[in-house]
Amino acid sequence: MIEQPYVYRHKDLVEPDWRRLPGWSAVSSQDWESAQWQRAHCVKNIRQLKAVLGEGVDEAFYADLERDQAERATMSMLLPPQMLNTIVPELSPSDPGFTDALYADPIRRYMIPVFSDRKTDWPSHPHASRDSLHEAEMWVVEGLTHRYPTKVLAEVLPTCPQYCGHCTRMDLVGNPTPVVDKHKFGMARDDRLSAMIGYLQANPGVRDVVVSGGDVANLPWPRLEAFVGELLAVDSIRDIRLATKALMGLPQYWLTDEVRAGMERLARTARERDVSIAIHTHVNAAQSVTPLVARASKAMLDTGIRDVRNQGVLLRGVNDSADALLDLCFALLDDAKIMPYYFYMCDMIPNAEHWRLGLGEAQQLQHQIMGYLPGFATPRMLCDVPYVGKRWVHQAAGYDTERGISYWTKNYRTAVEADDEQALGREYEYYDPIYLLPESGQEWWRSQIAAQQRPSQAAAPEPVPA
Ligand code: SF4
Repeated sequence: MIEQPYVYRHKDLVEPDWRRLPGWSAVSSQDWESAQWQRAHCVKNIRQLKAVLGEGVDEAFYADLERDQAERATMSMLLPPQMLNTIVPELSPSDPGFTDALYADPIRRYMIPVFSDRKTDWPSHPHASRDSLHEAEMWVVEGLTHRYPTKVLAEVLPTCPQYCGHCTRMDLVGNPTPVVDKHKFGMARDDRLSAMIGYLQANPGVRDVVVSGGDVANLPWPRLEAFVGELLAVDSIRDIRLATKALMGLPQYWLTDEVRAGMERLARTARERDVSIAIHTHVNAAQSVTPLVARASKAMLDTGIRDVRNQGVLLRGVNDSADALLDLCFALLDDAKIMPYYFYMCDMIPNAEHWRLGLGEAQQLQHQIMGYLPGFATPRMLCDVPYVGKRWVHQAAGYDTERGISYWTKNYRTAVEADDEQALGREYEYYDPIYLLPESGQEWWRSQIAAQQRPSQAAAPEPVPA
């Protein structure tokens, strides 16, 4: 064999033994596979985390976590047992080295962030903001973002069965934290959903609806089925995508009889109407892909829907190497039949600098993974550029690597640029983490911030509270 940078080996999926965790040592398989048990035993705070992990974890870790929750976290803690069980899957908390392994674990790094993970010099980029993609500015109905010419995003609810530390929708999704209050929808849910259907009926140029939130797994199934049924009745809709990280975080839900039977009904109607329904999930690390996740994905495919696809997020310390990404993509593709589709660069939300990669790093990762996966399953690395939309990382029109500023152009208008004649000629900026820049670039940013603090200098970026 020729020596290659990455060596493919099929790896059987493994469900880590939850009984290695003291708090779940007596939990039966029947309980473990129950969606109701999983929801009832989610870990929402440090006390519950300690109760599951027992005495084996150093107290310093919990102090680090507590400080993060008080001073940095933009998302509250919420992990279904299924997800927590995939953290440090091969050690028990009483094994030597467990705390070190916990610190290093990729799932822990984005689901249970601690203060020492974060950058202290530049915790936030000066251009970071809540709602960094400006989705709310493009709402045509509360929660319905019309950002691209032919597709819309319907945020049907603001909650999920799990909360990810890096959530792009930290402005809206989840519970308030000491650092951020959350935006609240003003309209009642059913009124919002009806208004969304009304908008789509009146706008036949829209053919594609991403039904998201939050996570659709938190909408009671009958309500979700009714909403998707109404979408199926809109003549112009041809693609419906259901966004649920819970396919991985809470696969037990997607394996319930109620959901399987309901999805079968939707898939049948969709076929009769020539509409494609797909599930889009969000898996960031290979160890999340367990036999239960594979069962849930295949159960959904068996209902007759078109596909199950993965949209991961590139995160430092989680999946920032070609090996980690390829291991994940093969785990998804081989046994779970989940199509690797996109990896987004982490958006410019507050306190995310330690997670974010620079554009050059994302370009390098795209180069490194090419040619190993089938072409149809080779994910694209994307930069979601504010006011532009998703762009392949190699599409930048320009890139100042000293200041970490990339320049992007667009080929359609959003509602906010309806009357903007310059929109298609303008260059829009995206920013690398400052700590990655050469000293001269970092100095330029420091001078920008200093100028901002002098009232007479108006050209500096908006500050973001840490
Ligand atoms: S599942 Fe998605 S919407 Fe929910 S917290 Fe995670 S990233 Fe945000």
